[in-house]
Amino acid sequence: MRPPLDLLDNRPPPSRGNSRGLLVFAVLFTGGLTLILGRPASSQKLASLPAIVVSSGEAEYRTETDTLRRGEVLAQVLARQSLSPNQTAEAVEALSAYANPRRLRAGVAVQVSRTAWDSLVDVTVHVDPDRLVRLVPNGTGWGAELSELTVTVDTMVVAGVIESSLYNSVMDLPLVGLSAQERIEQMMWGIYDPFQWSIDFGLDIRSGDRYRAVYERHVRPDGSVRYGKVLAAEFVNRGKIYRAYWYPEREEYFDEDGGSMRRVFLKAPVDFRRISSRFSKRRYHPKLGVYRAHLGTDYAADTGTQVFSTADGTVTRADWWGGYGRLVEIRHVNGYRTRYGHLSAITRGIKAGVKVRQGQVIGRVGSSGLATGPHLHYEMLHNGKQIDARAVNLPSGEPVASDHLAEFRRQRERLVSYLRRAEETGGRLVD
Ligand SMILES: [Zn+2]
Repeated sequence: MRPPLDLLDNRPPPSRGNSRGLLVFAVLFTGGLTLILGRPASSQKLASLPAIVVSSGEAEYRTETDTLRRGEVLAQVLARQSLSPNQTAEAVEALSAYANPRRLRAGVAVQVSRTAWDSLVDVTVHVDPDRLVRLVPNGTGWGAELSELTVTVDTMVVAGVIESSLYNSVMDLPLVGLSAQERIEQMMWGIYDPFQWSIDFGLDIRSGDRYRAVYERHVRPDGSVRYGKVLAAEFVNRGKIYRAYWYPEREEYFDEDGGSMRRVFLKAPVDFRRISSRFSKRRYHPKLGVYRAHLGTDYAADTGTQVFSTADGTVTRADWWGGYGRLVEIRHVNGYRTRYGHLSAITRGIKAGVKVRQGQVIGRVGSSGLATGPHLHYEMLHNGKQIDARAVNLPSGEPVASDHLAEFRRQRERLVSYLRRAEETGGRLVD
């Protein structure tokens, strides 16, 4: 079907502004060809006619891809791509039908296509990962058309073994197309999510712990990949097996029997990635499995590491208090209180009487008060008496309703079969 190359010089003489006419002509002719070629009698004759223009036109588009830089607006990118002030203004105006041209984020791709004769064909703006807007100049202004990209969703299962930390293990997973930041945001937090109430990812993780997780993977036409929700996960921590299943009806994780994974208290009050090595030489309390110098749990972490409230509650103090240094104390339901000591800073707005949510940042790790090095001193009190925070395991969320249990179990069985297929380390397509 390719036309003879030596006819390429028969194209119309270059002239500005006629490229659209040429394009329409070409398209019409392609259609015509398809139709007519179905009739054997006339095919010979037509095949050698100006159908060549199609090929010539296609081959000679030049597309430049540019990217919105930090702090830039679309008009600046278009000017850099040599659009005239008029063209720029009209293109920006046309885009505003689908996206706010002043609100495009840095990194947005902008493609400018021109013919061989340098007339503008179109400008394509990738306004967000799933949508692009094509801006086309016409006689009276610019038109805009929106395309939704077709995203295919696969189900993947990954499996990993921990040698030093969950972070390092996730970095080692043989997955293509994910930056380090994306591995943290999409993979690591995905594994942490269902188990944040059951496992202390700062103090409990041991070499040899392992995990499997079933993910949704979204693949766009350009091949870029994003990992969505973790649909099911298993974590084996010091020989104990934890499993969690996402139940879309309720948008949360449940255990095997449909019980909520949620608890009143999070297991760890600090961003676990910044907690120093699990295998340090600090005094280790074999019975409690914690470093313990007094009542309370110490999390050795870099100064500045974020500290979270482990449960919903009301701040009862946020100030300097003797050996605790900078301290936040929070009152929770049922007579519980938590204390967070030695902080280097208390988050702005955190003061007595203020309500906080579970997981909300209340301050930063430091070594204020009686502390020999940067760490968070975390303690829990029940009815005024100090207790072991790590032993508290109060249920919080509602279980799956009994009339939904059958459906939950069906979904769970499917996810279990996916988990089983992750016997080897590494990401694999399962669906
Ligand atoms: Zn302490």
